[in-house]
Amino acid sequence: RKLGVAVCGLGKLSTDQIAPALMKTKHCRLAGIVTGTPAKAEAWKAKYGIPANSVYSYDTMQRMADNPDIDIVYVVTPNALHAQHTIQAARAGKHVFCEKPMEISVERCQQMIDACRDAKRLLGTAYRCQYDPHHLECIRLVREQVFGKPTILQAGFAIDVGPADQWRLKRELAGGGALMDVGIYALQATRYLTGEEPILVSAVETKTDPVKFAEVDESIVWTTKFPSGVVAYCSTSYKAGRIQNLRVNAENGWFELDPAFFYDGNHGRRSDGKEIRFPEIDLFAAEMDDFAQCILEGRPTKVPGEEGQRDVRILQAIYESVRSGRAVSLA
Ligand code: NAD
Repeated sequence: RKLGVAVCGLGKLSTDQIAPALMKTKHCRLAGIVTGTPAKAEAWKAKYGIPANSVYSYDTMQRMADNPDIDIVYVVTPNALHAQHTIQAARAGKHVFCEKPMEISVERCQQMIDACRDAKRLLGTAYRCQYDPHHLECIRLVREQVFGKPTILQAGFAIDVGPADQWRLKRELAGGGALMDVGIYALQATRYLTGEEPILVSAVETKTDPVKFAEVDESIVWTTKFPSGVVAYCSTSYKAGRIQNLRVNAENGWFELDPAFFYDGNHGRRSDGKEIRFPEIDLFAAEMDDFAQCILEGRPTKVPGEEGQRDVRILQAIYESVRSGRAVSLA
């Protein structure tokens, strides 16, 4: 059977990626919406045939408890609202798939994990790159030591964040800037490639526009040390030009993806001249189908809430290093 998904927060990602992706899934269907904007509710009802009794506001989400048509709530609101929407969904008896970053503090991530555990519902973090065949191939190359043991990793993701008037530049709603939003992809990649947890991080920040970026970070460069001795250097920015890559330098060669973090069109090269290139898939459809299958088959997800929480903990350590000017131990 197909599981019913209610999309919570009908912004850009939900409109442009998630709803179209749900149409392509094998195990999900778009069954409901949560929105604060009546005009969006009407547009989504008309476009996707969503029944009136499966349309909720952020204040009426708890009524989903009576709606057997909805199995999963996909939380796609600003970062600092993820906990409240996740907790409301879990209390209504729904499984929760939550956009990255999971939340803006380790404590709030824990509240989300606790709420889903208490409700006996699955909590997943929307780490789409863990479903990208290009990233899975890079993980294979490291695990099978095709180029020997990795020595130095490099990962970076920068975007132009756009206009000043948006929640991404407000600390209260975003929790941080480029690092929380896109730097998290570089951090994730260094963790799933090594299969290790960082023991030390050190970071510096630079701001060229202190007015626009008064409340959040504009650009951060950080280094990470892993227990095996592998080190990574990473970068993120809301302003710097094009940084979109991932590279593993190993004992006997190297491989890289560039671009690495797009929705599609990612590809890469290896030091032996081979290409890393796979047919395009819809990453949002892939992650939703896997989450639904985990529920249907009663197995754990590879992207549980704890995985999202680990990243938030490391992001906070990176910010602490920026503030203190010192390396921060995570051991
Ligand atoms: P957006 O601004 O386009 O959409 C956010 C939605 O939340 C809007 O519909 C808005 O009306 C709603 N909202 C509810 N309460 C709000 C409030 N108090 N203030 C502002 N908006 C409020 O943002 P987006 O780009 O769709 O991002 C949403 C989430 O998805 C974020 O957590 C972001 O990090 C994540 N995201 C993930 C990816 C990915 O590739 N996985 C890409 C983009 C965004």
